[in-house]
Amino acid sequence: MKVSELTHPDDLMRDSELIIRFLQGGADAKYDNEKRYVRKDGGIRWVAVTARAVTDIEGRLLHTIGVVQDITERRETEKTILESHQRFRGTFENAAVGVAHVAPDGKWLQVNARLSELTGYERSELLTRTFQDITHPDDLDADMAHVQRLLAGEAESYSMEKRYFRKDGSVVLVNLTVSCMRTAEGAVDFFIAVVEDISERKQAEIELHESEARYRALTEASATVVWRTTADGEVIFSSNTWRDITGQTEAETRGWGWLQAIHPDDRDRTINLWLQPLKTKTIHENQFRVRTHDGTYRWFSVRGVPICNADGTVREWIGANTDFHDRKMAEEELRRLAAELSDADRRKDEFLATLAHELRNPLAPIRNGLQLMRLIDGSGEAGRQSLEIMDRQLTQMVRLVDDLMDVSRISTGKVELRKMPVQLADILNSAVETSRPLIEQMGHELQITLPEYPVIINADPTRMSQVFLNLLNNAAKFSDQGGCIRLTAEQHDTDVIVSVRDTGIGIAADQLPHIFEMFAQVDHSLEKSQGGLGIGLSLVKRLVAMHGGSVMAKSEGAGMGSEFIVRLPVDKNSPVEGAKTASQPEHDSIPPLRILIVDDNRDSADSLSMVLKLMGHDTRTAYDGEEAVAAAAEFFPRVILLDIGLPKLNGYETCRRIREQKDGMNMVIIAQTGWGQADDRQRTRDAGFDHHMVKPVDLNELQKLLAELQATK
Ligand code: ADP
Repeated sequence: MKVSELTHPDDLMRDSELIIRFLQGGADAKYDNEKRYVRKDGGIRWVAVTARAVTDIEGRLLHTIGVVQDITERRETEKTILESHQRFRGTFENAAVGVAHVAPDGKWLQVNARLSELTGYERSELLTRTFQDITHPDDLDADMAHVQRLLAGEAESYSMEKRYFRKDGSVVLVNLTVSCMRTAEGAVDFFIAVVEDISERKQAEIELHESEARYRALTEASATVVWRTTADGEVIFSSNTWRDITGQTEAETRGWGWLQAIHPDDRDRTINLWLQPLKTKTIHENQFRVRTHDGTYRWFSVRGVPICNADGTVREWIGANTDFHDRKMAEEELRRLAAELSDADRRKDEFLATLAHELRNPLAPIRNGLQLMRLIDGSGEAGRQSLEIMDRQLTQMVRLVDDLMDVSRISTGKVELRKMPVQLADILNSAVETSRPLIEQMGHELQITLPEYPVIINADPTRMSQVFLNLLNNAAKFSDQGGCIRLTAEQHDTDVIVSVRDTGIGIAADQLPHIFEMFAQVDHSLEKSQGGLGIGLSLVKRLVAMHGGSVMAKSEGAGMGSEFIVRLPVDKNSPVEGAKTASQPEHDSIPPLRILIVDDNRDSADSLSMVLKLMGHDTRTAYDGEEAVAAAAEFFPRVILLDIGLPKLNGYETCRRIREQKDGMNMVIIAQTGWGQADDRQRTRDAGFDHHMVKPVDLNELQKLLAELQATK
């Protein structure tokens, strides 16, 4: 068998070269080789083969002697050591931290890539330096002291934070851990240093610290009190502000101590309000009074929020108390002022109502007096003219007083509409008729355009006439002599639109939005002969609104005329025939009646009595309740006109007593009162009255009523 057959194929080439060189090498030739043999069983063994040549004197090769030694085990041990070494290098090199071997004198022996990276030195540069060379001078002594202890065998390792100077001069903060490898004798062979760059961690710590300091400074600088409590709501921190305000010490505020600074009346509520969110982990809100160090109390608003752990449990509460005392006081003052204002407004309304009522009382006797004078009529042309003037002025005065009364009633919500299906044309005609004297007096032309078919609206006819009367009167009043007034009504779907348009003085654009306000007047109105109180349009607006409609004013400006447009819903459900037509006053003469007139205003009673006498009735007067009861018993009137506000016995009681007397049930008792509301009417009805008339009694209306009585007799 040849050597080459035994040799592993991979080692064959090299082996052949060595053998050839050996065989040609003469007497001194050597053959030393380590190679593999392939055993008969296929196994592989490492062998060390040493061969020498044996030659003759001329140097010719006679034969060779060789020794073969099995070195398989040695080779395997070497391989294991190599692998372990490589693993160590890998760990050393790839470590995320700097690792180095350092000689006892401080010289870097081995450094890994990370250390070179964090110090900024090339590996070769580091290996020519000591750790002392790159250590910050301020940290050197401490480091050296540790090293001395290791060298002296007093410690096996140490850890410290220290600074290195990087190659570029910047400083890197590291955490250093050093342990040592010792020789068999115990002396330090070399140090193993592990170096971790903690600059970023340190920076984060610094920033956290700064942020904490800023937060504290903020809480102290702020006028708001900042506090912190445990999850159970016990105060563990409150900013200085709280102590400055209350004079409590830090210790006094802790736990629940802060409650002592809360107003006793607010404490229970505060505790309850605070305990609630502690359970529900919701935001806490409260307001309480805090006793300040000078003993006065100030209002604070409180808000607290829970800070939760990752698992949702509350870690702590953070909150703020803000002084809102001044705002609260201002708000309360504002509320008080508003209440005062609305009180004053209410008193004003009451005053207007009383004023209107009181102004109305003297108007009744004056009207009666005028009527009387007209009936007597012995004063010739001059007397007749002055009677007309007085009558016109009185009508105007009654209108003003009525407006005043209405507006105060509307603002106190006392107006009740008696709505019914009515023909719009009737309402407009009635307004036109009432307004006609003024229109004619001013020499205006009046053009009326109404729909050709009846339009029914659901309205209180008196009130709705009043609306258009106001608009027509204004058109007449605010136009120079000889103007033109156009009244038109048109149906648009479910609405009817009524327009009153004039060629008068117009309204400036800046005034337009205000003219419907109470007491609003464009100042030139004072120069007009027919003055007013500035409540007519306010009344119009409110009445139209109460009918579900709207009113607007238009004008191109001063001198350009004005247009007032009223929009009202049409009543589609009522048949045309059902609609009432506004009836005209009747003036039929009627047979005489026995009439008792009761009024504590003697002028009123006497003048009405005289007028009725002139009409042919038999009258009697009484000036208080008791007198009235007596007069009724003795005079047996058919009709009693009974005032409500009477001395001794009021009208209601008087009525009841009269009813109890003989024939009392047969008398027609008519209440005369300044109050004409539904509940007033109900009261008189309940007291036994047959009718209810609002003062000053309208003679036409009275005559109509008397005529009806005669008819039913
Ligand atoms: P009054 O007529 O009592 O002054 P109103 O409330 O009826 O009060 O009207 C308020 C004001 O609106 C009037 O004073 C007048 O300045 C203005 N105004 C009303 N109607 C007209 C109109 N047709 N043309 C011009 N100005 C008007």
